[in-house]
Amino acid sequence: MDSKERVILDCRDYPESKCTLAFSGKEEEVLEIAEYHATSKHGYKIEPKLREQLRSMLKQEALAR
Ligand SMILES: [Zn+2]
Repeated sequence: MDSKERVILDCRDYPESKCTLAFSGKEEEVLEIAEYHATSKHGYKIEPKLREQLRSMLKQEALAR
């Protein structure tokens, strides 16, 4: 991926979270902060399945607008 291309993960895509935060950046950066956010704010456990789920929610930032 081009390093200038950011991806966005929008918590609103996950309606049950009742959360309006969105994170954007490089894929690995977004996954890292999103994993922290999901576990600290939404009570998820850190496990490979969580990261896969978060990865599936990533969108190209340009397309998200
Ligand atoms: Zn959230």
